Amino acid sequence: MAEGQIIKALSGFYYVTDKETSTIYECRGRGLFRKHEITPLVGDYVSFDIVDEAKKQGYITAIHPRTSELVRPPISNVDQVLLVFSVQKPAFNQVLLDRFLTIIEAMDLVPVIVLTKYDLLDHEGVMEPYVSYYRSIGYTVLKTSKYRSETIRPLKDYIKGHISVFAGQSGVGKSSLLNALDSSLKLNEGEISEALGRGRHTTRHVELFRLFGGLVADTPGFSSLDFAEFDIDATMLAHSFVEFWELSQDCKFRGCLHQNEPQCAVKARLGQDPIFDARYQNYLSFQKELLGMRPVYHKKSRN
Ligand code: GDP
Ligand code: ZN
Repeated sequence: MAEGQIIKALSGFYYVTDKETSTIYECRGRGLFRKHEITPLVGDYVSFDIVDEAKKQGYITAIHPRTSELVRPPISNVDQVLLVFSVQKPAFNQVLLDRFLTIIEAMDLVPVIVLTKYDLLDHEGVMEPYVSYYRSIGYTVLKTSKYRSETIRPLKDYIKGHISVFAGQSGVGKSSLLNALDSSLKLNEGEISEALGRGRHTTRHVELFRLFGGLVADTPGFSSLDFAEFDIDATMLAHSFVEFWELSQDCKFRGCLHQNEPQCAVKARLGQDPIFDARYQNYLSFQKELLGMRPVYHKKSRN
């Protein structure tokens, strides 16, 4: 029996990289999987039997426990999200950043915030308050421009040893980053959906490719940012704002959601830092959104 990792799924076949030899085997899943409604996922570490060495064909016999599981795109064992935001064109969007961070935290993944198009800024200083704020709460923030290769190079060290997905609006520069990292990829810029797989008709087609000692998904992460899809509740949301979670040790009430509770350490901090304040407003509006969708969500899940 061999061991390996599924790096591609296509039309009922799973392409498994052998852990020892790096050879790729075209595998089928055991019939048993289908019976138990177990779907092997790209990213899965598996045991497999080689049935034909010459043709490089095999059978997956077991799926090893997953550390994470994304639904869209369907990939397991992702541990890092390269969260791409342009500083201009489109303009930097803090609401969307906080939204992505909420989902990433709730899923226990690690974000690397990659700011792109720095060359378009007249004054880099306009972004500094954001950069230093998000760094101060523990996030990695990289400042890049595709026209300055030295700004993109550090990304290689973050990719190494991880299974990553890119996430970010279309047009922010995801394909450009990949091309700048590895010119042999030749992804079409301005055509992210094509380049990173979304435009393909086989929506189940997902592939991990090897890059700088890591694996990167060829499809953008999180095609939906609907909190319901990630099963996020009010408490998880409160935890996912990492600095609020730290402050909450000093809130009077345990489980304080920093809304109408008295003696709340998060509310006490308001008015000192505009970015903290904006995060708080985003937090409140996300909580409101959760309230609004909960009834719908429950109705759905009962069927
Ligand atoms: P994607 O949709 O996220 O993959 O974005 P693309 O990589 O296709 O880039 C969208 C557009 O932004 C293209 O016209 C790129 O040339 C441009 N672009 C990407 N990165 C940069 C950058 O660092 N600076 C500037 N000025 N333009 C960029
Ligand atoms: Zn509180």
